[in-house]
Amino acid sequence: MAFDLKKNIRANIAQLEAYSSARDEFEASSDALVFLDANENPFQNGVNRYPDPKQKTLKKCLSKRKNVSTRQILLGNGSDEVLDLIFRAFCEPKEDHVILMPPTYGMYEVLANLNDIEAKKVELDSKFDIDVENALKAINERSKIVFVCSPNNPTGNALSAERIEALLKACDGLVVIDEAYIDFSNRASWLERLNEFPNLIVCQTLSKAYGMAGIRLGICYASEAIIQVLDRIKPPYNVNELTQQKALERLSKPEEIEREIFSIQTARALLEKEMQKVSYISEIYPSSANFLLVKVDNAEKRYRQLIDHGIVVRNRSRQPLCKNTLRITVGTPEENQSLLEALLAIAT
Ligand code: PMP
Repeated sequence: MAFDLKKNIRANIAQLEAYSSARDEFEASSDALVFLDANENPFQNGVNRYPDPKQKTLKKCLSKRKNVSTRQILLGNGSDEVLDLIFRAFCEPKEDHVILMPPTYGMYEVLANLNDIEAKKVELDSKFDIDVENALKAINERSKIVFVCSPNNPTGNALSAERIEALLKACDGLVVIDEAYIDFSNRASWLERLNEFPNLIVCQTLSKAYGMAGIRLGICYASEAIIQVLDRIKPPYNVNELTQQKALERLSKPEEIEREIFSIQTARALLEKEMQKVSYISEIYPSSANFLLVKVDNAEKRYRQLIDHGIVVRNRSRQPLCKNTLRITVGTPEENQSLLEALLAIAT
């Protein structure tokens, strides 16, 4: 089916006149000008001026690294903000719905509820992959977004590319592929195919592999037309100056990032091997992320016992298909050692 952007934007958003900020007109970095236009405090301290609302330098850097045009990038205060903007631009409250495929990242449902949008759920199959048949049955003309999380949280697996492609082709609305954990996987990013699918949005974040959860930087890649819509509704200064600076600093050291990713992947493999020795762990699910989902005999009991040993993990048992599971993040080698010791110590 052909994707019609005009049909997918909410009517009020299509007509909305965007806020024009002072910094949209002139850049504060220009030394030749006197800036008396934005009611800022004039005394320099590094952050007395508003940040660049278009984050041009940061986008240029990401554009080079990812081989995507700067006009196909929108930045947000974490991917959580990006996801919220997508809801607000495209889903008409009380009328439209989105398709979620649990067990998956909990914020999609929270954002659906927050925006008064129905969340239609199509569970993943027993291998935690997409149930295409049921998904296609659920999709209709009021399905504005299908959320695909790959690698998926909390299961850790990457979803089948063929099945994602089937959704992209069948869906009249948008398909958002959340690639928060893509850098820990050996799969290609869907960014490579961005220009093939006008209804594709890819979300990434600096919170995971890039080690910058504290600065809150989420990245949305899509067609220029989709990015223009989101740009019009984003808060003008949604990515603060310190975040932009810190992100640029980190992106200038790609070897450091690569080294950390490799170390986390190696530690993940080691943890997987060592956890096989733990008697009450009956399954360690294959992971392409920086965490492992494991099935235990009694998740609540093991969760409490680990806390008694000073280790905090996540009990994911309330998610469908995840009874008695714990989600465990890969830590430093020392932290992983402490985890293994605690897992073995509570075995009796
Ligand atoms: N997507 C997924 C799948 C996640 O697991 C998370 C964080 N747990 C996010 C998005 C949120 O990322 P950010 O920190 O960029 O808001």
